[in-house]
Amino acid sequence: ISADPDAGAEIRRLDRTHVFHSWSAQGHIDPLPVAGGHGSYFWDYDGTRYLDFSSQLVNLNLGHQHPAVVAAIQEQAGKLVTIAPAFANDARSEAARLIAEVAPGDLNSVFFTNGGAEATENAARMARLSTGRHKVMAAYRSYHGSTAGAITMTGDPRRWASEPAMAGVVHYWGPYLYRSPFFATTEEEECERALAHLRDTIMVEGAHTVAAIILEPVVGTNGILVPPENYLAGVRALCDEFGIVMIADEVMAGFGRCGEWFAVDRWNVTPDLITFAKGVNSGYVPLGGVIISDSIAEYFRDRPFPGGLTYSGHPLACASAVASITAFHDERIVENARTLGQDTIGPALRGLAERHPSVGEVRGLGVFWALELVRDRDTREPLVPFNATGDDARPMTEFAAECRKHGLWPFTHFNRTHVVPPCNTSPEEIAEGVEALDAALEVADRYYTG
Ligand code: PLP
Repeated sequence: ISADPDAGAEIRRLDRTHVFHSWSAQGHIDPLPVAGGHGSYFWDYDGTRYLDFSSQLVNLNLGHQHPAVVAAIQEQAGKLVTIAPAFANDARSEAARLIAEVAPGDLNSVFFTNGGAEATENAARMARLSTGRHKVMAAYRSYHGSTAGAITMTGDPRRWASEPAMAGVVHYWGPYLYRSPFFATTEEEECERALAHLRDTIMVEGAHTVAAIILEPVVGTNGILVPPENYLAGVRALCDEFGIVMIADEVMAGFGRCGEWFAVDRWNVTPDLITFAKGVNSGYVPLGGVIISDSIAEYFRDRPFPGGLTYSGHPLACASAVASITAFHDERIVENARTLGQDTIGPALRGLAERHPSVGEVRGLGVFWALELVRDRDTREPLVPFNATGDDARPMTEFAAECRKHGLWPFTHFNRTHVVPPCNTSPEEIAEGVEALDAALEVADRYYTG
C-alpha cells in the first residue's frame, strides 16, 4: 500500500464538484477516496487500510479482487464485450446453467437483470401476469430496491419519499421476536402469530386479489432477522392454499451469505421465484436476476414476457458469475461461511455481549450477523430512535467513527451494527475485526442508562 494524499485530495474535490450521490444531502457528505482492495481489506490514498465488515453493501461475498473472477472479466472482454439479449451467448448460457443447478426445486430458468431492484420489478410482473391478480404483499421490515415498484414494496422509511408509486402493494409484519409485533415471548409463539397475522391480512385483502408475497428469507438491512424454524414453510403453505406466488428476495441473503447457496435452503423451502444480485458475482460487474419455477416459465411459453433490458445477460457480468460460482465450488465458500458463523463469528459476538451492556441482542447465521444496541437491556430502548438522523443518531455515528479509527469499516443501520464480511474472511481476520468492535462498543456503552 503506497500513499498518495494529493491524488486522494483531487479525487475527493472532483467527486464533490460533479458526482451526485445516492440517499444523501449532497452538501453533507465526504466520501472516502479508495485506492485499492484485496480480500477482506481496502485502503485509501493516505495509506490507511480497513478491514471490510460491510462487504461494500453486503455485496463482496468473495472479497475484493478475487483473481479468478478478475481474470474471467478480462478474458471475456478480449473475446466479446457485449451482445444484445436476443442472441445466445456462451457466458450467459453457462451462468444460467450454474445458477439453475444450485437453485432449489424446479427453479430452472433465469431472467437476467442489472441488479436487485430490477429483479424485484420483474418478479412482481411475472407473478401478476401468471396469476392474473394485482396485489403484492411485502414486509414492513424490508428493502427490495429503489425503482418505483421495488421502493413501494420496500417497507423501511426509504419508501416514504416515493409514495404513492405502485398501486396494490400491501405491507404486513414479519416475525421479530426481540421486538415482537405480536407480544410473543417464545419463537413458537412468534411464528404462530406471524402466520396467523399473514393469513388474516390475505383474508381481508381478498386472496383472489393477491398475486405475490415477497419476503427476504432472512431480513437483511432491516435487522438480520432470522425467521423462526417453521415460518418460511408456513408462508409456503399459505401461498399454496391461496394460489399466491412466493417470491424469495435473496439479493442480500443468497449466494453463501447465510452459509447456504440460498437462505431458503436452510429451511428446505422452495419459493416460486428467487431474486438475486450482489453475491452472484460479488458485484464485480452489475448483475441480478430472477430464477423462475417451471410452472411460471411455462406460463410464458406461448405468451411473450412483456419485459426486457438492453444489458440483460451482459457477457462481462455473466462471465464473472461463471467464475464466481466456480470459485464457490472450488473453494467451498458456502461451507466456509456456515462454519465461520458457527465456530467463529457467533461465539465472538456473544463474547462482546458479555462485556458490553449496550449489546441487547446478537443474532445471525453464516456471515450475516447483527448486534442490536440498546440504552437499557430491560426496556430494550434502542441506542438511537427508529430512522434517527443528525444529533439523534450521534451514538451510532460516534460508534462507527470509533470502528474506523481502529481500522474496521462497519455496516451500521439505525441502532444496529451488522457483521457482514466477505464469506472467505479468515478466522484471524474476524478476530481482528471483533477486537475493533470491542473497542468501539466502549463508545456505545457510554450511552447506556439501564
Ligand atoms: N433486495 C434486497 C434484499 C437488497 O438488500 C437490495 C439492496 O441492498 C435490493 C433488493 C436492491 O438491489 P440493488 O441495489 O442492486 O437494486
